Amino acid sequence: MNESENLNGPAGARIKVLFPLPLFTAFDYRAPPGVDLAPGRFVVAPFGPREAVGVVWPGEGEDAPALKLKTVLSALDAPSLSAELIDFIDWTARYTTFPAGSILRMTMRAGDWLTPPKMQTGYVRGGAAPARLTPQRQAVLSAAGDAPMSAAALAEAAGVSDGVIRGLEKAGALRAVGIDPDPPFAPPDLSRPGRVLSAEQAAAAQQIAGNISAGGHGATLIDGVTGAGKTEVYLEAAAEALSRDRQAQVLILIPEIALTQPFLKRVEERFGAAPAPWHSDLTAAQRRRAWRRVAEGQARLVVGARSALFLPFARLRLIIVDEEHDGAYKQEDGVIYHARDLAVARGARGGFPVILASATPSLETVVNVDEGRYGAVGLPARYAGASLPAIDLIDMREDPPEQGRWLSPTLARAVEETLSVNEQSLLFLNRRGYAPLTLCRRCGHKMTAPGSDTMLVEHRFENRLVCHHTGFSMQKPAACPACNAVGALAPCGPGVERVAEEARARWPDAAVEILSSDTAPTAQAVREILSAMSGGDIDILIATQMAAKGHHFPGLTLVGVIDADLGLSGGDLRAAERTYQLLSQVTGRAGRAAKPGRALLQTYQPGAGVLQALIGGDRDAFLAAEAQSRRALGFPPYGRLAAVILRGKDETALKTCATAHRAAIPGADGVDVWGPAPAPIYRLRGQLRMRFLVKARRNVHVQRFLGDWLGRVKIGGSIRRVVDIDPYSFL
Ligand code: ADP
Repeated sequence: MNESENLNGPAGARIKVLFPLPLFTAFDYRAPPGVDLAPGRFVVAPFGPREAVGVVWPGEGEDAPALKLKTVLSALDAPSLSAELIDFIDWTARYTTFPAGSILRMTMRAGDWLTPPKMQTGYVRGGAAPARLTPQRQAVLSAAGDAPMSAAALAEAAGVSDGVIRGLEKAGALRAVGIDPDPPFAPPDLSRPGRVLSAEQAAAAQQIAGNISAGGHGATLIDGVTGAGKTEVYLEAAAEALSRDRQAQVLILIPEIALTQPFLKRVEERFGAAPAPWHSDLTAAQRRRAWRRVAEGQARLVVGARSALFLPFARLRLIIVDEEHDGAYKQEDGVIYHARDLAVARGARGGFPVILASATPSLETVVNVDEGRYGAVGLPARYAGASLPAIDLIDMREDPPEQGRWLSPTLARAVEETLSVNEQSLLFLNRRGYAPLTLCRRCGHKMTAPGSDTMLVEHRFENRLVCHHTGFSMQKPAACPACNAVGALAPCGPGVERVAEEARARWPDAAVEILSSDTAPTAQAVREILSAMSGGDIDILIATQMAAKGHHFPGLTLVGVIDADLGLSGGDLRAAERTYQLLSQVTGRAGRAAKPGRALLQTYQPGAGVLQALIGGDRDAFLAAEAQSRRALGFPPYGRLAAVILRGKDETALKTCATAHRAAIPGADGVDVWGPAPAPIYRLRGQLRMRFLVKARRNVHVQRFLGDWLGRVKIGGSIRRVVDIDPYSFL
């Protein structure tokens, strides 16, 4: 298109600009006269009293009267957002009911990445030979190579002062070049062969490759037991997508940052080049580099946490969602979304395939496979003949631990046997800290966080009581704050620290370590514990769910689950499913290499369906029973859910607002609205929370219903309303 065609008189074309702010719509502007601003361009525009960076959005900009239109100030020299991403942002906004500007914000994060960073100056050898070659000059020329070095680095390498460098530059013997502070990522080496696949893996890889080369969208589940080698299979799929299109980009989503390091290494081994990482632990400089290189299309392989889904890929052609069932894909703060579901949507809209991998796929995904919406490939056995662990229950009613201890005699014996043959044990308890509840033995007072209905958890290493919901913490008081009894506050129940105390007392010579987000607060600390475990330097690892996912510990042959009933009492619709997934993942850590493994689950409810399914290894029967009960209740995936949460400090205002919402519920076929009900954690950080739950038939357009309903109620300034489509948390 020629520029003048875009001119709308001397004033420039009308365009729309979306800002990364909680705004539902893009605003109307004029482009500077004669400047063509296509959708996706980053621009600076006057916004109220200030200037803001936004993105040119599709649309004519016809809404505002011409006279009121302001003109965009400038366009930034950054790669434009792709039409595919713009469409995905708009779709996500409609689906989640959050403002499009808030979704754009997830793509833009910080605007300063948009301006290219200052180039640094480096030196390489120039063509000319200096007239005068002193020993210092000679030293510099020998130190300088083909890769540019900064003046300081070069001077240091040659042991001379900076002046020598400048002299050589003047003489033409050194040449100054710009060094990009965001170096490009090495491209994946696609000629490198992958590992030799087993017959099963090869068949799975071939089927997926067939889907990819057929082009177009399609979601495929790789359904394989823990240790089956799913990763090898989907890395072949990534190789296929990268080879077919020399500009294609591939995104691999993983649920846990702690997993990234070994995973990045594995991907690097496969492709001879490190992929671009994306997660919350990166420094600002690492983020800027990844963001820019992804936007330019230069970073072709990205491994990231859920937020990587919103990176500005220039040409995304495949998304792989590893451990697709994992709850970490659901973002609960800010914009509420499920990264797995959005990944499938992004592929569907962008016309490219999506691969989901799991040993314990979610019921949602299983039903999508059963009903033919997703394809599936199965890997029913472990790689290289490793066997799945034998799983047994320990009935705690018949085999109870001694007073004040948490390991039953049977589990303690199993640990001893494992120690005696120099193998490793993992004791799993999904509870941080020392004790989950602190209770006054005199008056029964429970220690809670101020302004919250949440229990304080004792952390004995730090001698503090901590709230895991609000982050509040205090020193453990000597006296009960309710009755002043001294020394009466007692820890109730075990957390990982308490189990570790018992293990150290029982086996003083064993190397015992704890892995939880408290004992390993940084990615580095987690890495150290995990690599000590893989290397065999730990005899007994006591861990929360951080150890459950994806790790490969070759010497681990015993997994003991301290409290297999823990997740069952939660009472939300996925409690059994989540327990099944977590326990099969954690027991699946045992016996992944040459030596066979076993798992022992301590329980007071040995008859529970979940536990019976685990010992029988009958996942499909378990899923079928789950499916049946969800279908009977019209719950997902057979029906749709949405939660509406109101929160505020003023209880009267909150209740009035909730009543107004109740009164405004429009009649709609196939929709039930439950509530308002106080949230299970009613008070949190001084805020009170009321919930509605919308349950709808699968064919109901829930977002439209919500728009209709919520549009009828004005909410006062002191109340905040949040919509959670497809809720996973009911607290
Ligand atoms: P999953 O992701 O299904 O739990 P992994 O992909 O982690 O399983 O594979 C389990 C183990 O088997 C890993 O140590 C992996 O390196 C090894 N493995 C899997 N497939 C192959 C293969 N084709 N060749 C060599 N080693 C393999």
